[in-house]
Amino acid sequence: MEKKILLDENEMPKHWYNILPDLPEPLPPPLDPETMEPIAPEKLLAIFPKGLLEQEMSTERYIKIPKEVLEIYKLWRPTPLVRAERLEEFLKTPAKIFYKFEGVSPPGSHKPNTAVAQAYYNAKEGIERLTTETGAGQWGSALSFATKLFDLKCRVYMVKASYYQKPYRRVLMELWDAEVIPSPSDVTESGKRILEKDPNNPGSLGIAISEAVEDAVKNENTNYSLGSVLNHVLLHQTIIGLETKKQLEAAEVKPDVMVGCVGGGSSFSGLIYPFVGEDGVEFIAVEPEACPTLTRGEYRYDHGDTAGLTPLLKMYTLGKDFIPPPIHAGGLRYHGDAPTLCLLVKHGIVKARAVSQVETFEAGKIFTQTEGIVPAPESTHAIKVTIDEALKAKESGEEKVIVFNLSGHGHFDLQAYQDFMEGKLT
Ligand SMILES: *Cc1c(COP(=O)(O)O)cnc(C)c1O
Repeated sequence: MEKKILLDENEMPKHWYNILPDLPEPLPPPLDPETMEPIAPEKLLAIFPKGLLEQEMSTERYIKIPKEVLEIYKLWRPTPLVRAERLEEFLKTPAKIFYKFEGVSPPGSHKPNTAVAQAYYNAKEGIERLTTETGAGQWGSALSFATKLFDLKCRVYMVKASYYQKPYRRVLMELWDAEVIPSPSDVTESGKRILEKDPNNPGSLGIAISEAVEDAVKNENTNYSLGSVLNHVLLHQTIIGLETKKQLEAAEVKPDVMVGCVGGGSSFSGLIYPFVGEDGVEFIAVEPEACPTLTRGEYRYDHGDTAGLTPLLKMYTLGKDFIPPPIHAGGLRYHGDAPTLCLLVKHGIVKARAVSQVETFEAGKIFTQTEGIVPAPESTHAIKVTIDEALKAKESGEEKVIVFNLSGHGHFDLQAYQDFMEGKLT
């Protein structure tokens, strides 16, 4: 078998897969924060383009990828599916391990799969400027990259603690001409209110979302862009799973276990949704013990942001005011998760597992030493559970096929690895 299973450019899927018509029960609708009734789609037109709202509610199973988006995808797609033989040998497991490598994109993660699509639909409808939030900077850099390609302006509200602690993602965003503002800031009312109470507030994703949404509502030619959780975001990410399906077919193997990390759920869902409904595949969503949304959260309606400006979504949640401890996997520190994924967890179709920070970095180090790639701290969560599953297969002597999503590289996270090696992680 070849080590790297590559697809040709012209074999890239031409449609995204929409799971809405295939869910085990209808998805509970988003609620208007003012009336607590299902929200009227027109209300959301203040911050989202029509093209994306249509996708958000579409019941069509396959949605065509615009050719302008496909052309940009070709800068790094199709991404490789790689057989992790050296990891298998290290573990002495009979399992076959494959990883889908999304870290080959220019910003270094899966996030531009949706950032490019979102920038495209906004530009097409005459929007001139996008706002968003970012924690450690992965989503902000993906949207900065995408807006640059479509000649849109971009303002990123970056969680203040990260703005000062992780300057290099900020530099990357600025290289792509985005304006990066530490949040909470004094340029929005939500930000000012927080600063009045606490001038040294270090910020949070929930606060930064409130600022970015307010900015988009108040400015005519400006829309807001979200990097995970919503249906249209997960839809765009299914390019990952659709490619993987073709690649596994080319390698003539069927997956037994599929694994990914979950922050808001977009990369994991993007990998597995095209496989949901296939017989005999086990799906494992991995989250940090420090932010255990799926394993310990409550399934109920909750807001997406701290100020309560966003519609309420039915999801597993730790509560909109939950402030997770400052673990290094910044992309996994969100209080809620994608509603479609939560529904699959509720029905037992997807299993969730929580792992501790130190064991994920140990897994990341093993992967760096066997396969050579430094994984993003988020992705190491998937590696940890992949290793556990491979060791289980060794005990039972089963030749399982395990596929995991390597959602990004960790070249901007070397401080975290240094802390790990110096024994400073908790
Ligand atoms: C943002 C991010 C995640 C988490 O987001 P999801 O929407 O759950 O995919 C995971 N991995 C990487 C590398 C990220 O940048």
